[in-house]
Amino acid sequence: MPYLTGNYANPSGSHRFARRTRQAIDEARDQVAAIVGCRPNEVVFTGCGTESDNTAISGAVTRRGGIPVCSEVEHPAVLEVVEHLGGRVVAVDEAGSIDLEQLAAVLDAEDNVAIVSVMAVNNEVGTVTDLAEVGKVVRRHAPGALLHTDAVQAVCWLDLRNVTPEVDLLSLSAHKFGGPKGVGVLIERGSPQIDPLIIGGGQERERRSGTQNTAGIVATAVALELTDNERDTEAVRLGELRDQLVARLQSEIEGVVETVAPDRKVAGSAHVCITGVESEALLYLLDEAGLCASAASACASGAMEPSHVLAAMGVDRSVALGALRLTLGYTTSAADIDRAVEVIAPAVRMLRR
Ligand code: PLP
Repeated sequence: MPYLTGNYANPSGSHRFARRTRQAIDEARDQVAAIVGCRPNEVVFTGCGTESDNTAISGAVTRRGGIPVCSEVEHPAVLEVVEHLGGRVVAVDEAGSIDLEQLAAVLDAEDNVAIVSVMAVNNEVGTVTDLAEVGKVVRRHAPGALLHTDAVQAVCWLDLRNVTPEVDLLSLSAHKFGGPKGVGVLIERGSPQIDPLIIGGGQERERRSGTQNTAGIVATAVALELTDNERDTEAVRLGELRDQLVARLQSEIEGVVETVAPDRKVAGSAHVCITGVESEALLYLLDEAGLCASAASACASGAMEPSHVLAAMGVDRSVALGALRLTLGYTTSAADIDRAVEVIAPAVRMLRR
């Protein structure tokens, strides 16, 4: 609030009021760097996770030439940029982890790979990537390429201090960890190795021009600190609740398949596929009952299309059409799990009738 009301000076100004807002941004940068595990001058504040992803990939290709490479299950903020720039997309296994042999083969086949982008945690099914293993393949088969990770979904579950050292570039989005919408972070380790996407006034040490969103940046750092303090205890609590939720759904409803095994995904992800129902109809009933969920299927030309993530994992189309993506977070209580089961089971029965 102070930065939206009394202390509203433009941080690029040279007067005392501007210096105060600039100092607030610098403090936020220090806080973010300490939690992410990098130096403050490696933290670039952007306008969203999508901008961070776009900057990493386009910026690497513009600076270095060559093509980008990513996995098949990336968020569109990565996938669409890689496809737009004529890059290569690598297959994943049945849990949604990038196939390291195929990655090696793609890197061997290409003369000039500018950047490899592999997400830390998948946004739909929650699968965690072993970035150390990806890094080994990239260094062996494309030593000149940068490694980027979209860690937008990782913050609530993984200690970024263990993730950042494995990569050159890392993207975050504030609203995924309780910060405001419309603030992103791009970590660019070492000296600049990519071109900026947005050029102009030279803010963020020329890496991202445009007047900074001071209040949003300060709030992002606070949200990140709170998340970091609670992360490990919350992961244990929510992992137990998630397992109870899935077990109870499976005991009350026939044909509930857990999409990814619990030991390969983050604690808050309870993605299931329910046979014999279409998620679109189920989501409508759940919404009516006050349960917020999603399916990540898109309606193209009137026909329901299953998500690109499930298709890449080889989930049968008829099963994928019954996808239900339930996500647990810091507001989720044991009573919410009871309520969710009470709402989902009759809704599925009604649709199967
Ligand atoms: N990457 C992943 C994995 C996401 O889940 C999202 C948002 O859902 C984004 C990128 C895009 O972030 P933003 O909405 O801040 O642009």
